This record gives sequence, C-alpha cells and structure tokens, in this order.
Amino acid sequence: MNRPLLLATVLCTLATSLPAQDSRRWRAHDTERPKPRVVTPGATVGQPPSDAIVLFNGTSLDAWTGDDGKPARWTVRDGYMETAPGAGPVMTKRGFGDVQLHVEWATPTRVQGNGQGRGNSGVIIMGRYEVQVLDSYGNQTYADGQAASLYGQYPPLVNASRGPGEWQAYDIIFRRPRFAKNGKMTTPARVTVLHNGVLVQDAETLWGPTQWLQHGTWAAHADSLPLVLQDHDNPVRYRNIWLRPLGDIVRPASLASAEPAMQVPASVLRGYVGKYSTGGNEVATVHLKGNRLVLLMPGDPRDRELGLVPITRERFNLMNTFGTVTFSKEGGKQKIRLQFAEIDRTGERP
Ligand code: MG
Repeated sequence: MNRPLLLATVLCTLATSLPAQDSRRWRAHDTERPKPRVVTPGATVGQPPSDAIVLFNGTSLDAWTGDDGKPARWTVRDGYMETAPGAGPVMTKRGFGDVQLHVEWATPTRVQGNGQGRGNSGVIIMGRYEVQVLDSYGNQTYADGQAASLYGQYPPLVNASRGPGEWQAYDIIFRRPRFAKNGKMTTPARVTVLHNGVLVQDAETLWGPTQWLQHGTWAAHADSLPLVLQDHDNPVRYRNIWLRPLGDIVRPASLASAEPAMQVPASVLRGYVGKYSTGGNEVATVHLKGNRLVLLMPGDPRDRELGLVPITRERFNLMNTFGTVTFSKEGGKQKIRLQFAEIDRTGERP
C-alpha cells in the first residue's frame, strides 16, 4: 500500500473509531467538549452519507463472496442483485461489528407460495443475527417470522410492509454482543430497525443468535464478522446496501458540577448582591441563597437561578454551566461580567 493511501486509511479508521463523546464529566455548554466530526449526508434520505462503506451500488458484487469463499453467484442486473437458484447466500468480504446498515429489498411481483415460502430471505448480521426478509403483505405467518422480525425472537412492532415487487428499506442499528475473555457474554446484542421509515424494533435485546425451532445460546465470536444475505430458495432482490461502522458507546457518567476552589467570606459575597444593568432595560440580579451567590440572567423570563461557585474572591464558576461570572470595581461602581454559553456581557450596579 502506498504511503498516501496508507495515511488515508489510517485517518479513515481513526475517524470512524473516535467517539464524539468521551467519558469525562462535563458542565453544560462546555466549549472544550469534543465536537462531533462532520458527515455529509446523502443527497436524499436513504443514500449513503460521506462516511459510509458502500457494499452494493447496483453494479458489482466485488464486496461479496459466496459462503464457500468463491465469487458470489447472485444475478446482477438493472441496478439490483437477486438470489439465483442454488447459488446459496452471499456474504461480505469484510467483517463488521457495530453498524448502522441500510438495505433495500424487493420480493417478487408475481406472488408464489405462502407463509415462510413467500419472498423469504434475510439480512443476517455477523452471519448470526437475522432480520427477516419476507413478503408480509397480506401473507399470514407466525409473528416472529414475518418481515422485519428478529427471527424467532421479536415480531416487528407493526407490519409496515409494501406490496410484492415494491422496493422496501431497512435501516438497522446493530450493537454486537460483548464477551469476556473467558467467553461469557457480558452485553447482549441490541437491534433497532426501521422498516420503510417506520420503527419496528426499538433497541431490542437479543436472546442469542438466530435459530429455527430452538433458542440460540450465546457463544463468544469475533468482534467483526461478515454480513450475510440469505438464500431461502425464493427470488429476492437487493439494492443500495451501505453501512457505517459505529464506535463504541461512550457516555459521560453524569453531568459535572463545579466545585468551590475556596471559601469567600459572607461579607464579600454580600458586597456583590444587587441588580446590574446590562444594557437596555435588562438587569442581571445577584442575590444570596443561604451562603451561595445566585445569578438571575438578564432577560430570562423563567428567572432561572444559576448558582455561583468561587474560584477566587472575585471570580466564580457557574455551578452547572461552563463559564464564569467576574465582579470588579471600577470608578467606584460595582461591575459584573458574564461569560458563558456564547454570552459575554458586562453590567454595572447603579
Ligand atoms: Mg429468512
């Protein structure tokens, strides 16, 4: 691999793995908090965004193989791929773990068969966890086996199926299971599915890998495994398949509050109490609540009380918000400066 390409690959990998969140605790509106990276969305909803890995754009099966490792034998024509008799499933050459996945599919226009035998295929994530594909438009089958079910476990919340031959879309958010070093499952897989834009699986927790006629049990597997499209002996078409690998879920444990750096004598605090004109008719009010200074923002119709926590005798952090309030005396007048949440205003007490 040449160096620019290697660098691009490394940067791309970093970009997809770096979390926009981190586990530090933050006060509200902290300007130091990491900003989410920029992703350019697709031209229309359903089109791949700039950071997507396109698995099938309608022209080639380059990203796919058969499950025997040989070239995929599904038919590609007119912008779609279709299961071929006896061809078996197709699987991606690359493995994936946590993903946002977009898949479009269509069952045959000419309806044949019924129940599980009518337009059956499946989006099998990590080769283990199936989101069922089936013609479920007026087709009776068991609930946990109809289109958009997490097969054998969760029926969809509603049946949002389009008719035979019509293109349908799945948008899937999949969180892979986590396993301890000893192979014990520590976090089960979780799946959210929108079927044609309708929520059908709401962050459901899987009970194990997909099985037929029995319950699957968790068994440790790799963090990245190929995506599989099922061949269930029914002709089913797929197009516009892309995914975005997702970073680990990292969330701050809680929001932070500022801690006082020192004690300020009550007499000094009392000296800051009063109303400060900040321009126009607006007034910032400072009062004492117990032994804490409290600020009422100028022009705040809700009169939110913002606690102030001393950094020095003159300078205070806002308790829950990133920013400071500074008191000073100039020309015999008591002044205030408010600096937080894109606000930088000064006021003075008459
Ligand atoms: Mg299936």
